[in-house]
Amino acid sequence: MSKKPNGRLVTVIDSQQITPNMQRISFQADDLSDFPADAAGGYIKLLFTEQGDTDLSQLGADERPKMRTYTIRHLRQSLDQFDVDFVRHEHDHNGGGFAAHWSQSATVGDTISIAGPGEIKPINVDTDWYFLVADMTALPALAAQLTKLPATANSYAVIKINHGDDKQALTKPDGIEVIWVIANTAKTNLLTAVKTLTWQQGEVSVWCACEFSDMRALRTYFRNDKAIDKDNIYISSYWKSGCTEDGHKIAKRNDNEAQLSG
Ligand SMILES: Cc1cc2nc3c(=O)[nH]c(=O)nc-3n(C[C@H](O)[C@H](O)[C@H](O)COP(=O)(O)OP(=O)(O)OC[C@H]3O[C@@H](n4cnc5c(N)ncnc54)[C@H](O)[C@@H]3O)c2cc1C
Repeated sequence: MSKKPNGRLVTVIDSQQITPNMQRISFQADDLSDFPADAAGGYIKLLFTEQGDTDLSQLGADERPKMRTYTIRHLRQSLDQFDVDFVRHEHDHNGGGFAAHWSQSATVGDTISIAGPGEIKPINVDTDWYFLVADMTALPALAAQLTKLPATANSYAVIKINHGDDKQALTKPDGIEVIWVIANTAKTNLLTAVKTLTWQQGEVSVWCACEFSDMRALRTYFRNDKAIDKDNIYISSYWKSGCTEDGHKIAKRNDNEAQLSG
């Protein structure tokens, strides 16, 4: 993605609360023919002013927009339309939460500028079994990864949701078992849920995206305890509890540097 994002204005054509904590917004663009056909699962940046407004004409000449990262859940390229699933998280509009606030109040006809798409590292689809892990922010990306697995793929997709009713029907190979981990219950911990699953024989592909602290705990498990080859693992934090995306970006950079020097 370019350093200076070139905003593309898109219009809200639908907004549905698909589960208690997920808002699906459908967008109409003028022309998405330059998007890769397989852009579903890739990410876009939503662009805001410093105050969290979507009217970028308010930006000063040398002011950069604030960016929030979201996944393309579905792409309907022939119609120049796409969907994004927004976690309905709590926010204090003054301290951030620009995307949460916008997505919970957007109505048909509203517009917002986006940049992208960018591509996340694809899963290695040439292994004996698969281990996918996500929280609700990465559920849209995990859902896209599931559709890219071979029909014979087996083992696990572990997904942490905020409420039992946040489960979604997912298109997936029959051999992939979906394990829903419900927050605020006894089985609240992603790492515990992952560790209780039987480790299979043979080469594994791991795809994992979630909150920063959960990611670090899972990274230790997969990389250190299970010594998974780096080509067979995608592990990323999608947000950080207590930080806006800007703060998360800094924490992520520091963490990457510590990993490289450690
Ligand atoms: C590649 C990538 C793809 C992503 N795709 C999606 C997606 O499709 N859908 C999606 O919902 N998110 C997605 N995220 C996560 C999203 O970018 C962050 O949650 C982002 O911080 C939301 O911005 P905001 O303006 O709402 O809140 P911020 O201004 O960034 O944060 C305000 C406060 O809200 C808290 N917060 C942020 N996110 C959450 C959350 N999910 N639950 C509880 N508290 C939270 C922060 O810790 C902070 O305290 C993705 C992130 C990445 C890196």
